[in-house]
Amino acid sequence: VKPSNLLSFSLQAKMSRPVQARRLEGIDKNIWVEFVKLAATYSKVNLGQGFPDFPAPDFLTEAFMRALGGGNHMLHQYTRAFGHPPLVKVLAQFFAKLLGRDLDPMTNVMVTVGAYQALFCCFQALVDEGDEVIIIEPFFDCYEPMVKMAGGTPVFVPLRPNPPKDGKLMSSADWQLDPDELASKFSERTKAIVLNSPNNPLGKVFSHGELGLIAELCVKHDVLCISDEVYEWLVYDGKQHIRIASLQGMWDRTVIVGSAGKTFSATGWKVGWVVGPDRLLQHLRTVHQNSVYHCATIAQEAVAQGFQRELMLYGKPESYFVQLPRELQQKRDWLVQSLDGVGMKPIVPEGTYFLVADISQFKSDVPDVPNSDEPYDYRFAKWMVKNKGLAAIPLSAFYSEAHKNNYTNFIRFCFAKEEATLKAANDILQKWKQEK
Ligand code: PMP
Repeated sequence: VKPSNLLSFSLQAKMSRPVQARRLEGIDKNIWVEFVKLAATYSKVNLGQGFPDFPAPDFLTEAFMRALGGGNHMLHQYTRAFGHPPLVKVLAQFFAKLLGRDLDPMTNVMVTVGAYQALFCCFQALVDEGDEVIIIEPFFDCYEPMVKMAGGTPVFVPLRPNPPKDGKLMSSADWQLDPDELASKFSERTKAIVLNSPNNPLGKVFSHGELGLIAELCVKHDVLCISDEVYEWLVYDGKQHIRIASLQGMWDRTVIVGSAGKTFSATGWKVGWVVGPDRLLQHLRTVHQNSVYHCATIAQEAVAQGFQRELMLYGKPESYFVQLPRELQQKRDWLVQSLDGVGMKPIVPEGTYFLVADISQFKSDVPDVPNSDEPYDYRFAKWMVKNKGLAAIPLSAFYSEAHKNNYTNFIRFCFAKEEATLKAANDILQKWKQEK
């Protein structure tokens, strides 16, 4: 064998070895990468990804500017790894009030790069090889790959729709867990359940009874609860957001996940947090110190000031946590009316800034392709953004592979948008209806 052949053989041998870690198998696709790109390329009106197109409140951006240009140049340097002290202090005060228990800012709160990193820390810290994690469908899509990356097995349980009989519009409250089905998913292999109330994408706000059922099963089977509450302030029609950690036996087994992005309409800041007992958070700190280590100081300082303001105004009409849901409820009602008017039946959300609508009456415009791997709602959403300039997200993206095909008649809209944006969406829908 010539030496040059030997060299090429050894190069080939190296190239044929997989470069990626096994834990990445099957989780390479991501709905947001695909649909954010489509929206950027084609959309005239983007009601797809969940972010406001109105400005963050002045008190927050002013706090950021003060932090940036004020006298304290140390705000441009590293701060405490597990959270900037003023932010963890005010979060501890705020959540102590909400949960009715004393919290230690140093051990019961940790700041993260958005709720996304908070979730990543939860799964990496609490889920082991072979553990099962119950996920309620439809679900914020990252839970599934994050469980898998930790070596766990996701176990899905669906919210089942019960259409109202009186011809009224369906509400997110009409999507419910079957108590027996839920109970059947718990076993000695179950390590945790992920709860997301208010729920993205449906906008469901879990009732006290539903949370009680979940809590009872968690206590009975010694299961942890990862409670994603990023939309905690976005609840409508006088409904109440109930924190599962405040139910009997739940504090010690729950990690609450929150987001300043959703709370203060500043998703680009990527400031999130976890609140929970030290026995759980100590392990999240281990993940955090070995991955991200610490988050941007100035954004944390500004969010701390935002919370200080809200603590002072708690429950008062001037509070942003009172004003924002009032404004969003009106936007929800506009979009509900607009969709109902054209026959794209909306499921009225009790919370969040998302709304799921039934596209059945528009299906004749976008013919199905039999035997395609792509769920129908994906094709519909792609066709809609390319042909009508309106971006939305297919609902089946929020289901596991095995259940995707049962929910392909819906798309999700985000209504955290300026009046003009919602009006432009309405114009597109009206015109489309007339052309049909
Ligand atoms: N959880 C849910 C349910 C969400 O909808 C989102 C954002 N879309 C996140 C977590 C992530 O939040 P953040 O932007 O703070 O990382």
